[in-house]
Amino acid sequence: MAIILDGKNLRNEIAAKLKAVVDEKLEKGFVKPSLAIVQIGNNKESETYIRNKKRFGESIGVNVLHVHLPEEIEQTEVQKEIKNLNEDESVDGIILQLPIPKHLHKEMLIESISLKKDVDGLTSRSVKGLWIDSGTSLMPATTRGILSLLKKYDVSLSGKKVVVVGRSALVGKPTALALLNKGATVTICHSETKDLEAQTVEADIIVAAVGRPRLISRHHVRPGQIIIDVGTTIENPDDRKCVGDADFEDIKDIVAMISPVPGGVGPMTVASLFENVVDVYLRKTMI
Ligand code: NAP
Repeated sequence: MAIILDGKNLRNEIAAKLKAVVDEKLEKGFVKPSLAIVQIGNNKESETYIRNKKRFGESIGVNVLHVHLPEEIEQTEVQKEIKNLNEDESVDGIILQLPIPKHLHKEMLIESISLKKDVDGLTSRSVKGLWIDSGTSLMPATTRGILSLLKKYDVSLSGKKVVVVGRSALVGKPTALALLNKGATVTICHSETKDLEAQTVEADIIVAAVGRPRLISRHHVRPGQIIIDVGTTIENPDDRKCVGDADFEDIKDIVAMISPVPGGVGPMTVASLFENVVDVYLRKTMI
């Protein structure tokens, strides 16, 4: 049986560390760190994600401000809200909860978030930081969470062959870049890749960020591999059970390590978002 890469456990360790850092600052008289989450409309899944972020933030002493805007709001109005948050000294980080309604221009709204408050690491200047490996820009939370999970289990990346399945701007591409920056040799696969199995069996590490339940089966893996399963799909709206991209039961006795769904990358994403928030707060409170 593979070693389980336990994201819940590591999330709890990170929470304890972040709480200690925040508590120390509060004792010195600083105000609490603060994250603003801008939600537009009433996407059900977004509500669950926001609830989880609120719960985690509050548990470590971070204020989470939920800015809930109506579905039919105009682009300029959202931009005004983001501008106000950019200028609000008490706000350390801002995220735009995705997805947003189709009539709005997602890239423009993301771009309007100030670089120093871009705790989702999605503005073009943050992306450039990752591209040139500046070491100073904030990384998307899922990517940071994956790196932390691998580090926790002493997985070195230098010289490893990694196959990232999925090329989204949110997960696949930034994760591939971050792994490349750590010295891995990275291949990115996607829906047009011919013979996915031929690519994945060659890998030391597979990162699956697709959203297709059980895509990665025994035909895609070999003994000794490490599987990072980012996928989360709710197949049955009645039980709302989260299903990963890896066929866990099919491959758990073949591969060396695997992150489960739920309990792997998901909890790490929340913890890493707040690591980003606390990093911004520390920069501010150091001055
Ligand atoms: P996305 O934007 O839909 O991207 C999915 C990617 O998978 C695309 O690049 C697509 O290729 C590729 N793809 C689709 N079918 C494929 C196939 N049969 N073979 C190979 N590649 C295929 O999704 P995302 O935002 O990156 O998210 C991916 C998954 O991760 C989703 O399940 C999402 O819910 C989950 N997620 C989880 C967390 C977490 O914290 N656990 C965080 C973020 C996302 P094309 O580009 O060619 O279309």
